Amino acid sequence: MDLCNLSVIKSVMADAGITFRKEFGQNFLTNRMIPEDIADNCASDPESLILEIGPGIGCLTQELALRYRKVVAVEIDKGLVPVLDKTLADYDNVTVINDDIMKVDLEALVNEYSEGGPVSVCANLPYYITTPILMRLVESGVRFSSITVMVQNEVASRLVAKEGSADYGAITAVLGYYGTVKKLFKVSAGCFVPAPKVDSAVVRIDLYPECPFDIKDEGLFRDCIKAAFEMRRKTLENALSAKLRGYSKETIAEAIKMCGFDPKIRGERLSTFDFVELSNKLYSLK
Ligand code: SAM
Repeated sequence: MDLCNLSVIKSVMADAGITFRKEFGQNFLTNRMIPEDIADNCASDPESLILEIGPGIGCLTQELALRYRKVVAVEIDKGLVPVLDKTLADYDNVTVINDDIMKVDLEALVNEYSEGGPVSVCANLPYYITTPILMRLVESGVRFSSITVMVQNEVASRLVAKEGSADYGAITAVLGYYGTVKKLFKVSAGCFVPAPKVDSAVVRIDLYPECPFDIKDEGLFRDCIKAAFEMRRKTLENALSAKLRGYSKETIAEAIKMCGFDPKIRGERLSTFDFVELSNKLYSLK
């Protein structure tokens, strides 16, 4: 069954008495080559456990199941569960969990299904919750090898942006702490039903097996980034003075100087490494 075929999508949903749920970001793929390409690129080891977020009616799930040892697919929409029971009936290496990915105990899930092997995440993400999902995954403490996701094209550009560019943002600087991000390919809005207003792109985050940064306080590092980007038009010194609690303007100026940055620099010019350095200097001055 071609689960990207429009008539098939409509008929399996009609049989189950369900319609597309906008509140869950349901835009299903209608071009078979795309789930194939995503599945081809999402992990290098066929023995991997793949955690899929939002299987929909299962078009990407099937491709993942053909390529990898085990797929666990977490779907929030209860109405899709009976559909997935049917569309994935021939794949005995798939487990569907009806839950919200923001609430699932990721560590327990991985312990149960990984058999100690590599684990990757793969998803055509619901766009309403892209950043919170990415942050939850990287901050979970689970050692994912990679995270391959379809996101809005403009979000993809943000995730791969270089410091100092207009697209560079807090999420770019934070993700840089966990791994390297690559844009794989663009997908036009016409490849989905219902068609979203904007194009999409697939990105892969290859997570560092060991953290390459010598960091003193991760919370402080994140607070610096948050403060710098909340007021990105201001100088780093002014933004941090306004938003970073517990540090005087003089201490902040001193830390910026110790890093060798221009006193008038803006936060958007700092790389992930620079933010690590800055937070370490602040930590040492406290
Ligand atoms: N994978 C399918 C495809 O590519 O055609 C569907 C992708 S659709 C963009 C996003 C999917 O994520 C939907 O099935 C939606 O119900 C599900 N979803 C939305 N929010 C979710 C959440 N918080 N946890 C788990 N699944 C979620």
